[in-house]
This record gives sequence, structure tokens and C-alpha cells, in this order.
Amino acid sequence: MSVLSRPEFHDEEAAYAYVEARVWANGRVCPHCGECERTGKLGGKSTRIGTYKCYSCRKPFTVKIGTIFESSHVPMNLWLQAIYLMCASKKGISSNQLHRTLGVTLKTAWFMSHRIREAMRNDTLAGFGAGGGVVEVDETFIGREPGMEKKAAYHHKMKVLTLVDRSTGRAKSMVVDDLKVSTLMPIIRENIAKEATLYTDEASHYTRIGKHFASHDFTTHKSGEYVRGDVHTNTVEGYFSVFKRGMKGVYQHCGKKHLHRYLAEYEFRYNNRAALDVNDAARADFTLNGVVGKRVLYRDSLGAQTLRRRRRCQI
Ligand SMILES: [Zn+2]
Repeated sequence: MSVLSRPEFHDEEAAYAYVEARVWANGRVCPHCGECERTGKLGGKSTRIGTYKCYSCRKPFTVKIGTIFESSHVPMNLWLQAIYLMCASKKGISSNQLHRTLGVTLKTAWFMSHRIREAMRNDTLAGFGAGGGVVEVDETFIGREPGMEKKAAYHHKMKVLTLVDRSTGRAKSMVVDDLKVSTLMPIIRENIAKEATLYTDEASHYTRIGKHFASHDFTTHKSGEYVRGDVHTNTVEGYFSVFKRGMKGVYQHCGKKHLHRYLAEYEFRYNNRAALDVNDAARADFTLNGVVGKRVLYRDSLGAQTLRRRRRCQI
């Protein structure tokens, strides 16, 4: 059976059931008051799909509250289609393509894809190189820093720092304002274990940073040396090549205020890729695990206290 024939992509009720099974994996919770026991499904023809009632605070709710789906009128099955497409396209899928494929407006497609990127975002520290593993560190340049004149070198471009843990095959990417040691040092130190071995290129900022780790070695790209035995940054450069081909070929333009979301998208797909035994469907399910508490561009109507209560119920 084609993946695209699955009921949750076509039937809104099935789509709600699919999302509920993942967001409420540990039981249904009222997003208003945190009640986990006394809630029930509302029936009746005029009731909207997926509506429940809380018998504690007496308010109705759906699984969308407190997630990237909140305040969206897009049918849930179209959301699942969009998530699947973004998860299954190695270099990403443009808002224009989503707009044409899903039959929603371009503006809606743009909002949807940014919210899905938020669901993919992982803000936890990487913890790379624990136990003395190898971590490759490198930077790349893309687009243009806001308000900067174009110059010959990279100074006018936006800067992306990426770390790849060789033993787990996972990457972590972030936007950095510059490549000063004072900027990079705290980021690298909080994401890489002290006992790690760092492999970089010859860039001078890594010489000082490298001293804080068990070992640091580099290849000298300037003199044509890219690999010396085990020492190279080919893994992280491979990561950049997918990222840059996607950003140039699919997304074409990206402002600095959105760049971190695109990084989250590429990092998510890379860290949940086929080589690590994650297929397209599992990747889409992992995205659904990240929809809670990640609403973006919308008024924050759900207080932090309620979110905390909600989490407590789910433990
Ligand atoms: Zn309630």
C-alpha cells in the first residue's frame, strides 16, 4: 500500500486519533487545568472533531491546544501530509511546493512549514564526545548578514557552526554571530565533553579552543591536506553539503531571523536518517513528539504553569 493512502492523510478524524495517540501517549490531559482523569469525548453532530470536555474546569479542549497546531484552521490530515513531506524530503520542501501540493495558500504553507521546523527543533545540549569519542567541528557561510555589504571574504555572510559526533553519527548546528574564540568557546564547551578528541581544520580559533579538550588535531586545508589517517572533517563537510544544496536549491533565500529554524530542520533529518535506521514514517512520528510547547508566531495563551502541570501528569 502506498504510504500516501494511509487514512490519517485523508480523514480528519483518523488524523486526530493519530496525533492524540502520540501527543497523549501517556493519557489525555486537560491543557487548561492539567486534569488527567476526569475528561471525556464530546459527541454530537455540531461538535468539532477531536473535542473533549474537562469535568474539573468544565472547559472544552482538543489535542491542538499548546502545540504547533493551535489556532490553525488547516485540517489535521493536511498537517500530517505536510509533516510527512518535510520529513521525507532530504533537502527540504519549499513553501511554494507545499502550497501547490496541499492546496493551501502560500502564506499558510509558509506558516505551517515554520511551525513544523519548530517541532523538529531540539534545544538540549549535545553531550558529544562523551567517553572520549571524536567530534568534528567546522563552520560554513551562507547568505548575507543583515545590513552587511558584500565583500570578498566571508565576513558579510551568515555563519553556521556544526559539530558532528563520529560515534553516534549525530550533528548539532547553530547560528553564530562571528568566529571569535569568545563566541565559539562557550558553545563548543557546553556541547562537547572535556574528554573528547576534536578534529577541525587549521583555523586559528580552534587552536585555543582545542586546548580545553583531551586532544585536538587538524588538517591543513590551505596546503591541500584534507585527510591524515583518522584526522579529517569530511563528515561535517558532508553535512554542510546537503544543507547548502538544500538552502540554495530549495529555499533560495533565508533571513537571519529564520536561519535557526532551517538549521533545526536539516539537523533533525540528519539525526534521524536512514543510516541510523530511521525511515520516513518514523521521522514523521518523531516530529509529532516535538509538537507540544513549540507554538510559534502566535500569542502565548497557555501559561508556563499549565505546561508544567501538563508535563507532570504525563510522567
Ligand atoms: Zn480542565
